[in-house]
Amino acid sequence: MSHLFAFDYHNPTRIVFGPDSFAQLPALLPAEARVLLLYGGGSIKKNGVYDGIRAALAGRDVVEFGGVEANPTLATLNLAVDLVRREKIGFILGVGGGSVADGAKYVACAALYDGDGWDIVIGKHQPQQALPVGVVLTLPATGSESNAGSVVTNTATQDKRAFFVPPARPRFAVLNPAVMGSLPLRQLENGIVDAFVHVCEQYLTYPVGALVQDGYAEAVMKALVKLGATFDRHAEPDWQQNLMWAANQALCGVIGVGVPQDWATHRIAVELTALWGIDHGRTLAIIQPALLRELIEYKRDKLEQFGREVFGLNAPSAEDAIAAMEAFYRSVNMPLHLRDAGINEADAADRVLAGLRAHGKMALGGHAGIDEAKTERIVRAACA
Ligand code: NAP
Ligand code: FE
Repeated sequence: MSHLFAFDYHNPTRIVFGPDSFAQLPALLPAEARVLLLYGGGSIKKNGVYDGIRAALAGRDVVEFGGVEANPTLATLNLAVDLVRREKIGFILGVGGGSVADGAKYVACAALYDGDGWDIVIGKHQPQQALPVGVVLTLPATGSESNAGSVVTNTATQDKRAFFVPPARPRFAVLNPAVMGSLPLRQLENGIVDAFVHVCEQYLTYPVGALVQDGYAEAVMKALVKLGATFDRHAEPDWQQNLMWAANQALCGVIGVGVPQDWATHRIAVELTALWGIDHGRTLAIIQPALLRELIEYKRDKLEQFGREVFGLNAPSAEDAIAAMEAFYRSVNMPLHLRDAGINEADAADRVLAGLRAHGKMALGGHAGIDEAKTERIVRAACA
């Protein structure tokens, strides 16, 4: 079968990119709205981002909520929902990385829903409306700033879940690469790999003759590999600009239109964060090689193309392509197995499998028909 699937693509997030982009905020926000400034654990107060935004918003009616965690929790976000209702907020401005952007989308939907907000996360309630959201991005990685996805964790059940809320897709995303100067190197490494795996999830399936999508996916991946190879230039503006745009394009939706998608790496990997708090990007590097080896026959043609086009290998086998990908991950200090991330529990794989079972994710399906046995082999190879 070689043809594109039908699609309906509409990404209305306005992107304002550049070193002076904070100055655009007053024009981007609705004139009269009371704004909730939602942010994380305080990095924006140390690196000048907070001051820059408050200066741009001088004279505006702004209420603040700080303390959104990395891998945001339902409990914390529900406190923000209460504040939004109490203060009659009309616009949610998230300032941070993917966690804050995701949190902003949840808050924007849950504030207009009378039931339990977790219903939105598990898909029991599909919001038809949300408060308007905007994002000032401080960490390029997730693409959350211009997509409709969000990931929220319920700590009580160790359930970290992705869900889609199109009405909460940000109206705008302010991308100022200069804010990356204060990022710990570990977060830059995570960002490169998260963005790379986002492309893989939309590309490493089987060929459907999508010349534009494949070519664009390969261009984004080549850019990320190059940024990894020139990591020592991470403080230079062009390096920062390229990572910020590559991570955005990796998951704004455009490379995934009309082609098969996977997302099994993400669906398994979130369990590792829920159990041990491992950074999202690192959990992907732990799961993906094992997953690709398990599904190698289903993905062989695309893996060979990946090896050739992204890593420049000459007539590579699928195995060669996976090895090249692992070398790339290693070069940006990723763990390739759970023990490399410092987790040495004898029952680690069993705990991951128990989580997947409890969260209804043992049979992931998809183009490779991932059944329980395949999921178990992937988890044991990555975590045993
Ligand atoms: P993050 O969790 O938003 O942030 C990680 C850390 O980086 C935080 O401690 C944060 O500190 C710090 N930080 C952010 N910007 C900084 C800056 N400019 N300088 C210094 N420190 C900074 O990381 P993320 O990787 O962007 O987001 C990960 C989350 O997104 C995960 O929950 C993941 O599952 C989810 N995700 C979502 C999507 C999607 O499409 N929606 C896709 C993939 C992953 P502060 O808290 O102090 O600011
Ligand atoms: Fe991701």
